Amino acid sequence: MYLAVAATLVILILWYLFRIRSQDLPEPEPVSPFHHLEVRKAAIYEGLRDLQFEYRVGKLSDEDYQRTKLGLQGQLATILAEIDAIKATQPQPKQVPKPAPAAAPTSKLCPHCGARFEKALKFCGECGKSMAGDAA
Ligand SMILES: [Zn+2]
Repeated sequence: MYLAVAATLVILILWYLFRIRSQDLPEPEPVSPFHHLEVRKAAIYEGLRDLQFEYRVGKLSDEDYQRTKLGLQGQLATILAEIDAIKATQPQPKQVPKPAPAAAPTSKLCPHCGARFEKALKFCGECGKSMAGDAA
């Protein structure tokens, strides 16, 4: 009796843990609306690579190579145009505004002599005074 209760408890705890775990899993990435076009694009790129290889090893005549290459490039242009067209109709992802960089404790412009430096400095390389601008 005691064993059965313990076993049930363990099963309950395990079930609970796995339930949490499955909730923690990230959502599957949404398939982009032009996924099928991307697949075709990749296939054409591979075709072009193969073509170039066969041409290099002498399996293809110049004429065959040029004709096939132009055909593939034409298909590629069509697919790229389709992808662009779909992208144009998609809402653009929101641009996360970058937080303004915190004011540097040091300055690139000497408040005493007006010398300007590439990097922020603590002390002016020209007059040697503090670049922080305090009247010390
Ligand atoms: Zn200075």
